[in-house]
Amino acid sequence: MSYSVQGLLDASILIAGEWQQATGPAIAVTNSANGETVAELPSASPEQVQAALKAADEARYGWARTAPSVRAQLVRDMARVLRESVDELAPLIMWESGKTQATSAVEVEVSAIMLEVNAEWALRVEGEVLPSDAPTEIINVLREPLGVVVAICPWNWPLATWARKFGPALTTGNTVIAKPSEVTPLSTVRAMQIITEKLDVPPGVIGLLTGGGDVGGALSSSPVTNMVTFTGHRDTGKKIMAAAAANLTRVALELGGKAAAIVLADADIDRAVEALIGARFANAGEMCGCAERILVERPVYDEFVAKYVTAAGAIEFGDPERNLMFGPLANADHLAKVSGAVEKAKSEGAVARTGGSIPTGGDFDKGGYYYPPTVLTNVTPDMSIAIDETFGPVIPVIPIDSFEEGLKIANDTRYGLAGYLYTSSYAKAMVGARDFECGELFINRTVGEALHAHHSGHKESGIGGEDGKHGILKYTQLKVVYHNW
Ligand code: NAD
Repeated sequence: MSYSVQGLLDASILIAGEWQQATGPAIAVTNSANGETVAELPSASPEQVQAALKAADEARYGWARTAPSVRAQLVRDMARVLRESVDELAPLIMWESGKTQATSAVEVEVSAIMLEVNAEWALRVEGEVLPSDAPTEIINVLREPLGVVVAICPWNWPLATWARKFGPALTTGNTVIAKPSEVTPLSTVRAMQIITEKLDVPPGVIGLLTGGGDVGGALSSSPVTNMVTFTGHRDTGKKIMAAAAANLTRVALELGGKAAAIVLADADIDRAVEALIGARFANAGEMCGCAERILVERPVYDEFVAKYVTAAGAIEFGDPERNLMFGPLANADHLAKVSGAVEKAKSEGAVARTGGSIPTGGDFDKGGYYYPPTVLTNVTPDMSIAIDETFGPVIPVIPIDSFEEGLKIANDTRYGLAGYLYTSSYAKAMVGARDFECGELFINRTVGEALHAHHSGHKESGIGGEDGKHGILKYTQLKVVYHNW
């Protein structure tokens, strides 16, 4: 079955409250399940980028002075209309990203929750009152919005990353321009169309520009932009930071990872296997915090590998409409990257214990970007499959002689997003909590962060941080006011 949503997208960028046709070059969006073009979406032109920034800049004063509870109500209303539109939005996510139909519907729900969780903070962005050395003075530390925020999103959770940025930016009184990934713009465009159709959003408070790195680069380097909040690849994050440096623009960068999972000899192996099946193969491994390498103590290595290979080999994947564990990878480039990484590992001596090559037959012959669950052994920590982010359903399992060796290998990376530890020892769990160099450590459980906690990487996995109190405050700046009488 082929799909076309071209008509839906004739006016796909939002500037100053008006939907317009982008006038830059078109970029094809493909259906991940069959490679067919779903839409040819034009990119915003340089003039349209500047117009969107101007509109956001003009709107920022009025929005900053709008009551926080009114701002929060808009964010909650956005959550409501997304939920009401799940039947329209979920198929777009499915086609453009390759997520299963069920996971795409979950993404719409998670996006709504992300908006709501952030809206709850509207009346809790607190300042401080400090004593002064002068008897006729008090000092206020106030929090105010930054101004114009630019939200540059990746393709793996297109709508959820958008909501994770729009929720806190709008709640705290910033205006915000979305720049979705050129791989997956459809769900964001349609979601924002629905929002402006159903809700009364002041012109310029939200904007949307389609396009690729050129549009993202122009937004990042503009002196009008007060903050770039970005989720995506580490190397893109570095480019954005360099572009933003020209104007000392604030950046919040949520980047990739190479999370290690350490399985100790005293762990509940069945539980570790189950947790790490989810932590690597959910959403085809296209999740930043997924386990990317498993390090297992030698006494339980053979048992773990046998059980893990059996469980991975039993995973069902295929057409996203069949709602198996996962569907195709997002696009042809990513399939080539994942499959190329496995081929290179095999050429260096790695053994694929399950998976390991592009599948054929049935769903897999329809032109989609499928790759099977793949478990590799005979891998050493110095091989690129154990160093570079794969971001797909592929994982090496490496034996270790001790917890100390595992921690050394786990931390011997420029990434620092997530980590996993499986042990029944309280003391070893505490050592892991202390010594893992990462922003999120999952002990005896699978992937998935709490939206009221904090999501951020250490080292080259990012600077910034999203969610909860620490995340929302990133969208504010401090101002100190001395009241002398
Ligand atoms: P990407 O960096 O290729 O693209 C992300 C966005 O950046 C896109 O919108 C793209 O158009 C834009 N972009 C590209 N070049 C740009 C430039 N020079 N200036 C400004 N914008 C530019 O990332 P991707 O392939 O879409 O996403 C996958 C990556 O995202 C993986 O590395 C993954 O780990 C990471 N990720 C991280 C998190 C997190 O929260 N830490 C979450 C999801 C994904």
